[in-house]
Amino acid sequence: MTNEEKPLNFIEEIIEKDLESGKHNGRVLTRFPPEPNGYLHIGHAKSICLNFGLGQKYNGKTNLRFDDTNPVTEDTEYVDSIKYDINWLGFEWAEELYTSDYFGQLYDFAVKLIENDLAYVDDSSSEEIASAKGTPTEPGTPTPYRSRSIEENLKLFQEMKDGKYADGEKVLRAKIDLANPNMHLRDPLLYRIKHAHHHRTGNTWCIYPMYDFAHGQSDSIEEITHSICTLEFIPHRNLYDWLIEKLDIFPSKQYEFARLNMTYTVMSKRRLLQLVNDKLVDGWDDPRMPTISAFRRRGYTPASIRNFCDRIGVQKRENMIDISLLEFCIREELNKTAWRRMAVLDPIKLVITNYPEGQVDELIGENNPEVEGGEGSRVIPFSNELWIERDDFMEDAPKKFFRLGPGLSVRLKHAYIVTCTDFKKDEQGNITEVHCEYIPNSKSGEDTSGLKVKGTIHWVSVAHAKEAEVRLYDRLFNKENPVAEENFKDSINPDSLKVIEKAFIEPDLAKATPGKGYQFIRLGYFTLDTKSTTDKLVFNRTVTLKDSWAKEVKK
Ligand code: ATP
Ligand code: MG
Repeated sequence: MTNEEKPLNFIEEIIEKDLESGKHNGRVLTRFPPEPNGYLHIGHAKSICLNFGLGQKYNGKTNLRFDDTNPVTEDTEYVDSIKYDINWLGFEWAEELYTSDYFGQLYDFAVKLIENDLAYVDDSSSEEIASAKGTPTEPGTPTPYRSRSIEENLKLFQEMKDGKYADGEKVLRAKIDLANPNMHLRDPLLYRIKHAHHHRTGNTWCIYPMYDFAHGQSDSIEEITHSICTLEFIPHRNLYDWLIEKLDIFPSKQYEFARLNMTYTVMSKRRLLQLVNDKLVDGWDDPRMPTISAFRRRGYTPASIRNFCDRIGVQKRENMIDISLLEFCIREELNKTAWRRMAVLDPIKLVITNYPEGQVDELIGENNPEVEGGEGSRVIPFSNELWIERDDFMEDAPKKFFRLGPGLSVRLKHAYIVTCTDFKKDEQGNITEVHCEYIPNSKSGEDTSGLKVKGTIHWVSVAHAKEAEVRLYDRLFNKENPVAEENFKDSINPDSLKVIEKAFIEPDLAKATPGKGYQFIRLGYFTLDTKSTTDKLVFNRTVTLKDSWAKEVKK
């Protein structure tokens, strides 16, 4: 389906109506507003693709706004990683903005509310405020401070700002309606006192605006036309509108869509941080994490993630997306783009007894047989001693085993047909060596032997192989919805990482770079790890060749 044929999602419908009616003079300005308290995850990618996608589609723009109103959990490390990830996904923001840059303006807005008797300073503790709020069916009761005069409120709020009070001693609340069925309108908190160092404003401020007060007002300051957030914020929308109306500022509007939930993973930064802090994973970019940086390190491409976000679409109802869809997207792409290479993960030695010792045949293998011209080729050295996979040999092979066993023949990929003549075992009965004879006129591409064999196996020349560590990743959790469990950390999949310390790879793979996708023939898709060194090569498995979990479910 091309973009033109695709049905509009409900947000696009709203925007097209607004454009038709000439609202905001046809201007579309969206924003992506991360809180810099963690690394971006695949859920954020959905929001990024949506917000930036709308900006692009409607000739508009998208701001990147760091929602940095909570000094304690935020850090510039997160700011940098977020910027890097958005660019990596292929998007550019119009402006890089920080809610903390608006602290002065937000303070003035709060003063304006006080002046209009629409906000007051409350000395009650958070427990007192909560218990006086009532329940959805019972109205709340005013605290003794609700009737303070405007002058007193102005003086106290100024003193809060000047650092006269300790954390929690006072708050600023909107004066709305203590009986409103929407609890968010029962005099919500606008400011709290927090004597904490902020990563951008330092110690300038000791009062910080609450999310509800900062968010809509920041949208308005930037003149955002369509402020898109997730469904949890539906109950906040009335307050969003109330504040904009009472302050009489630019009428930004909030629209809500369903957040991305994905099977076998957890998505909230708070939980991801726990995994990092408890050392259950090797940092935010551990390739098993659902973060953008982890997917990058694992070998996912920006296009595969954008494609995934496009396929899942934008809904108004919560749902759960199968992680297999994301795996499908990268597998489908890598099948077309990955360069083919040979690697042996569980080696046994194959000796070709009729091939001269010391002789080397320089075979040529196309990089990518999926495209015309093969994207060039590489040299694959062949000699009389090769590594092959242990499970490509069986002593007592069943009938349909089209690999090696006594008397059986296979083709060695890019090379010759060989027939097994003998094998060796150690004292424990493990196979240690397989002996074969090769058919000299059966070379791939110039085969005149007339022989037909059913199986082709991969191999690496012993004398030319490089060593590498290979990391096989699987799903981090073994429960579809780990968050539904009592403790989500109990459902970590103990087999989510298998390390092969010494695999043998064809020499050309020493030139690999992180992010470049390779298909290790018959094994899966791999990329070089970002922490790999020339002394110690490390490859990450991006995804298997086939969906192995689909089989699990059918069993
Ligand atoms: P988390 O709970 O993971 O910390 P958050 O919503 O607190 O997420 P923010 O940094 O505040 O994280 O989010 C920035 C933007 O990304 C918000 O507009 C938010 O709605 C959106 N977002 C966050 N998680 C998801 C998700 N799972 N699916 C879609 N959008 C999301
Ligand atoms: Mg948040």
